[in-house]
Amino acid sequence: MTVLLEARHVTRTYGGGLLDRDSTVALEDFSLAIDSDRPSVTAIVGESGSGKTTLARLLLGLVAPTSGQVLYQGRDLHDLSGTERRAFRRDIQAIFQDPYGVYNPFYRVDHVLTTPVAKFRLARTKAAARGLIEDALRAVGLRPEEILGRYPHQLSGGQRQRVMVARALLLRPHLIVADEPVSMVDASLRATILGSLRQLNQERGISIIYITHDLATAYQVADNIIVLYRASVAEAGDVELVVKAPNHPYTQLLIASIPQVSLERNWLSEPAAGHQEGQGVGGCKFVSRCPVAMAVCQQSKPPLFRTELRRVVACHQYASGGSQPEAMASVFASE
Ligand code: SF4
Repeated sequence: MTVLLEARHVTRTYGGGLLDRDSTVALEDFSLAIDSDRPSVTAIVGESGSGKTTLARLLLGLVAPTSGQVLYQGRDLHDLSGTERRAFRRDIQAIFQDPYGVYNPFYRVDHVLTTPVAKFRLARTKAAARGLIEDALRAVGLRPEEILGRYPHQLSGGQRQRVMVARALLLRPHLIVADEPVSMVDASLRATILGSLRQLNQERGISIIYITHDLATAYQVADNIIVLYRASVAEAGDVELVVKAPNHPYTQLLIASIPQVSLERNWLSEPAAGHQEGQGVGGCKFVSRCPVAMAVCQQSKPPLFRTELRRVVACHQYASGGSQPEAMASVFASE
């Protein structure tokens, strides 16, 4: 396994240090490794405040961990040389939620495509640059003649977001971190954009980290899934295993709350009755909502137990049968 990007026991707090009672823990002891030899799509699923956007920002080097490390090709992001940082900026691309906010309304959309070509010296001539840009647009299902020369407001939300995917593609990255890329796009266009991401994974060998609140689209697009609950991993593993037969009581609650008639519902924005912030300190964070909580759950935080070859669950119910893996990477790497 050649590790491209790794989060190693990463914790990020805001508003104080680790021991400050007023600080907010946005992400706690999170580990994940992306294997560059086996391109995959990994969905990070969580409700608002679960830590998923903080995770995206940590992986992109936009914020630093309070403890733990984020490593690019084995080197701490903090210690990268100028050349290594440039390679990191090219190799790991981001797609954000708002496909309009990233455009300057006074520039034609061409600007977001020509800038990286010039910055990373991807082409020697204007004609070669144009060819690269047109190829990238076609790769995400857009017709260059309908896109180039236009202003952002002249494109639909779906077109704008696909131009951003094309922009990421121009740099031939090994990993795209897509943070809620379809949450502001019409439902009818979501499948097309997610299809483009899946295609980039399968045909161009690009790994994708797909961050979402939407379990249905996560299931649609991902190989692996990580369910976050209040800054910690509740359950992670093969998407078929986790979604079809969830082990963690929180994942079970999520799956059960998806109405049969509407997989598009924003099911994660509705905490179950009885949820009280602050409960679970020192013990399991889910204890106040858990229908099968035990005495031990009040006192001790469950580690990740491996319940199957490709699944880990943070729940004391699995303490007797499971062994503790070193990291989620070992779960995702298993055949
Ligand atoms: Fe429920 Fe206990 Fe498992 Fe937490 S550790 S999910 S409280 S059974």
